[in-house]
Amino acid sequence: MSISFDLTGKTAVVTGANTGLGQGIAVALARAGASIIAVGRSAMDETERLCQGMGASVHSVQADLSSLEPIEHIMAESAKVGERVDILVNNAGIIRRADSIEFTEKEWDDVMNVNLKSTFFLSQAVAKRMLEDGAGGKIINIASLLSFQGGIRIPSYTASKSGLAGLTRLLACEWAAKGINVNAIAPGYFVTNNTEALRDDPKRSSEILGRIPAGRWGDPTDIGGAAVFLASSAADYIHGVVLPVDGGWLAR
Ligand code: NAP
Repeated sequence: MSISFDLTGKTAVVTGANTGLGQGIAVALARAGASIIAVGRSAMDETERLCQGMGASVHSVQADLSSLEPIEHIMAESAKVGERVDILVNNAGIIRRADSIEFTEKEWDDVMNVNLKSTFFLSQAVAKRMLEDGAGGKIINIASLLSFQGGIRIPSYTASKSGLAGLTRLLACEWAAKGINVNAIAPGYFVTNNTEALRDDPKRSSEILGRIPAGRWGDPTDIGGAAVFLASSAADYIHGVVLPVDGGWLAR
């Protein structure tokens, strides 16, 4: 039996690919042989350069996923590239921090719209295509430790990421027999824009670091291996898992 992590000939849509974990994932998928469709609201120049450096073809699609509007455009653009979408990584996500007692409806809706609503409807659009030709595919949601834990001062984020873990399991149950693997990765504490406020707070920062068995924050390059694995044929019989990549945080 041969186990393959090779993604040659596959095309991966990665949302929020311009920076942070999305960029780390796009580069890792490119290194494994995939063509990349980088989706997001900011310029993708750096990601394009890094992926092309791996010899991958990259096509960028401008899309603000705070609403469902761009989903048709994303699907049309990926069809224009002429490639079948084999892999979707729902990575784009935002966080809003405030005490729950003061949390606003806007802070709630903004987070839920990007992290959960757009993720569901983009998955639906991509899955329709994957089902059309029966060749299946891989959908990877970027969840969080807040898919397992409560956290503080991030009510909509925790609700969205806990919801995303449930959604991952539900979609896995509906689509597993149709050849689509739906799984999630739960990153621990990584050095990205998302965690800037935590790292700027010396007390919170050292509390967090002190709880990570690996003794360091994650770097975006630490996330790619899990994404390549879940995107590859090595994971063909894996459905509905939320895989922590957290330096051991949840083991503590
Ligand atoms: P980040 O650097 O802030 O990246 C977030 C990405 O999402 C950026 O590319 C951002 O684009 C994109 N995005 C946000 N709102 C968008 C919108 N309306 N439309 C399109 N794209 C949008 O943070 P990150 O840590 O890499 O976050 C990536 C994912 O990992 C998120 O889902 C986050 O919740 C999750 N996560 C991160 C950590 C961590 O420790 N860093 C831990 C657990 C989970 P812009 O650059 O244009 O804003």
